[in-house]
Amino acid sequence: RRTLRGAFMVDEQAAERARWEEASKETIKKTTKPCPRCHIPVEKNGGCMHMKCPQPQCKFEWCWNCSLEWNRSCMGDHWFDV
Ligand SMILES: [Zn+2]
Ligand SMILES: [Zn+2]
Repeated sequence: RRTLRGAFMVDEQAAERARWEEASKETIKKTTKPCPRCHIPVEKNGGCMHMKCPQPQCKFEWCWNCSLEWNRSCMGDHWFDV
């Protein structure tokens, strides 16, 4: 019984740590995404879904939500993150 409970405790701690790591990964995922064309990480600013790659040789305009080139449906459907 004691051994079982001990193992359970370790599992709980590991699970807790995994959850925490997952949460910090989520935070990074929430604020940066790779540019669909050149794949450099681009930081999102504000609630606008319209992204523009900061790389001078790329300058790709894309949608944060779809990770695709910026298009009319994005503009009409989810331009701003509410
Ligand atoms: Zn780019
Ligand atoms: Zn979109």
